Amino acid sequence: APAPPGFPACAQVDLGAISANVAALRRHAPTAELMAVVKADAYGHGLVPSARAALRGGATWLGVAQLTEALELRRAGVQAPLLSWLHVPGQEFVPALEQDVQLGVSTTWALDQVVAAARTTGRTGRIHLKVDTGLGRNGAWDADLADILERCAALQSEELVEVVGIFSHFAYADAPEHPTVRAQQERFEGIVEQAGRAGVRPPVRHLANSAATLTNPSAHYDLVRPGVAVYGLSPVPDLGSPEHFGLREAMRLLSHLSSVKDCPAGQGISYGHVYTTHEQTRLGLVPMGYSDGVPRNATNVGPVLVGDRRHTVAGRVCMDQFVLDLGPDSTARAGDEVVLFGVGAAGEPTAQDWAVAVDTINYEIVTRVGAKVPRVHL
Ligand code: PLP
Repeated sequence: APAPPGFPACAQVDLGAISANVAALRRHAPTAELMAVVKADAYGHGLVPSARAALRGGATWLGVAQLTEALELRRAGVQAPLLSWLHVPGQEFVPALEQDVQLGVSTTWALDQVVAAARTTGRTGRIHLKVDTGLGRNGAWDADLADILERCAALQSEELVEVVGIFSHFAYADAPEHPTVRAQQERFEGIVEQAGRAGVRPPVRHLANSAATLTNPSAHYDLVRPGVAVYGLSPVPDLGSPEHFGLREAMRLLSHLSSVKDCPAGQGISYGHVYTTHEQTRLGLVPMGYSDGVPRNATNVGPVLVGDRRHTVAGRVCMDQFVLDLGPDSTARAGDEVVLFGVGAAGEPTAQDWAVAVDTINYEIVTRVGAKVPRVHL
């Protein structure tokens, strides 16, 4: 399907691909439930439609970072179990309890706030303990963990808190063979035992991101928590393509040439003239820039497809436009479609190709697509 007329840029999102990817992930982890991670606007794919597509594909839970994202799903009528795990002191948890959003708890203050919300609402706060098993990021450990466990045991008997889950996150998402993976798993199992000794026995243990869902069955436990693979991107591009894992890229980012012009040799192109035409050639202007999520360091390296030909960004990527050197024999015209990335089947680059070209990860390529780029859900 072409981009809708009248939009300089558009991100088409294949919701069928999202559903099929979740179904494929379930086949990789048949004994576990699946929480589709839909934070950051479903990795740029559009929160609500992507979440629904994931549920159609067999996800039984949805996970987000921010409580606001969870509440947006509830406002849209999504009824699946929801977990949000990144909070700030002073944040109001009353709406979470009222809307049956489960909360990740990694600090004593978060536990205090859950208890306060439980007292206000008369409801039990349903929580998942987030423990740090070696990522060195969000998650409780040592004295804080012991304190939280002890308090949870007491709070459970008062029915102020129900500890539904316990979870942690891997440091090496892209290297399932890294020794820290095994070490984190052992630490996780040790903490689950420690919790049990403290009288806290959460039924839902979860640790696996996309990479572990696809490559490490021993880390599946009761629930897997994939994000990037839901959208059809390989979490381990060095080990396998999306196709290798039975996944398909859901996002196709496209634009149209807003103008073309013929240009002599020796013309400097765009700010700073970091590209110069080496022969008489045709230039094409693409109305997308870094404010749309095209990385500025795609200057002179970002790949695109126009018609059946691949081109590379010529000169600096600007705030809302960049230039292509279409070559002397180009027949391209204003209005022609420009595909920045897609599944690759028609010769277009993939998000992974962009990640390599601009020295980042495929996650960043899709999540940075700007809010002003309309998502068209197919
Ligand atoms: N779980 C947590 C706590 C996360 O922060 C993330 C994303 O970073 C995920 C799961 C999903 O990770 P991935 O996209 O690598 O599957």
